[in-house]
Amino acid sequence: MSTDGSISMETEVVKLDPLNPNPAIIKKAAEIIRSGGLVAFPTETVYGLGANAYDPQAALRIFKAKGRPTDNPLIVHIAEKEQLFQVAQEIPETALEVAEILWPGPLTLILKKTERVPYETTGKLDTVAVRMPAHPVALQLIKESGVPIAAPSANRSGRPSPTSASHVVEDLQGEVEMILDAGDTFFGLESTVIDLTKEKPILYRPGPLAPEDLERYLGPVLVPEVARGTAYAEKAMAPGMKYKHYAPTKRLILVEKKGDLPEVVRRLSLKYKVAVLCSTEMLRILENEAVCRIQLGSESNLYEIAKNLFAAFRALDHSYCDIGVMQSFPERGIGLAIMNRARKASGMSIIANPQDMINLF
Ligand code: AMP
Ligand code: MG
Repeated sequence: MSTDGSISMETEVVKLDPLNPNPAIIKKAAEIIRSGGLVAFPTETVYGLGANAYDPQAALRIFKAKGRPTDNPLIVHIAEKEQLFQVAQEIPETALEVAEILWPGPLTLILKKTERVPYETTGKLDTVAVRMPAHPVALQLIKESGVPIAAPSANRSGRPSPTSASHVVEDLQGEVEMILDAGDTFFGLESTVIDLTKEKPILYRPGPLAPEDLERYLGPVLVPEVARGTAYAEKAMAPGMKYKHYAPTKRLILVEKKGDLPEVVRRLSLKYKVAVLCSTEMLRILENEAVCRIQLGSESNLYEIAKNLFAAFRALDHSYCDIGVMQSFPERGIGLAIMNRARKASGMSIIANPQDMINLF
């Protein structure tokens, strides 16, 4: 039974070779897309929940399955450059140049939409978010479907994005026709979203491609506070910014300064069963603490931290602990995206100074 009491559907979970997917399975999944159904599939960022981007009813099914507010727009995934011109118009030269260089890849461009893309897909906006994912399963599914595929992350709204098919099963079993399981995703964080419809490029969501990488091609990129995750958008610049995101069910506290973490953990352990989400280096410092350890990877490789982050949020929920405490990471490269997700997941429960904790608990 789904949450509204209706009988849920049978979800078929199919394993696929990520580099060489079985064409018969891709064909079956594409038929589901063409007939207005939902297929969850892997990309290089996270798993997506896909439907025909041109079909308003199919797009609405995505919102229903996720429990997502209908003003939070979907990203349209394409597999060939020509499809860009079917979904977007008045495309600036810089957008074409950056797409040429960085697609397929974890970069989503906001552009003016064409009439073919229904408002259901764009959350009532005149703009469309487009990207070409760098994953053989995603690309072959889009090609075989013959239509662009609208796909947000394949999690229940507000939950951490899925980086493995088991996360999709956890959130969406019985809500989708098919889940394509091709193992863990490569980056583990959602794409970088950048608006190219304004005078200057604006970063809406940091991702695997950092603003400093993009500036090489686009010139100065505006990074608003909401993109860092240090503020909520009142009236959303990008609608997704309005909503609490990526959150574990259990309370998560982010410790702003790395050096404060051991003291925060010790103080909280007096009252709670604490899980620590931190680097392998930090775990050595916490060696003697009686805490649950959720390893994120080495501080020397922020890509590893990013890849493990959402699975760590889910591990916190599955642990016996009451509360999670997470270490901060430098905001360079993919670190900006890590900190954006961590701030949002903590619901701004951020400790800047251990002395302040008295006010928090
Ligand atoms: P998700 O697919 O769950 O990663 O969410 C897609 C995100 O892309 C949304 O939450 C928005 O922040 C952003 N987005 C999609 N379409 C647009 C658009 N037309 N204008 C601004 N932001 C968009
Ligand atoms: Mg999402």
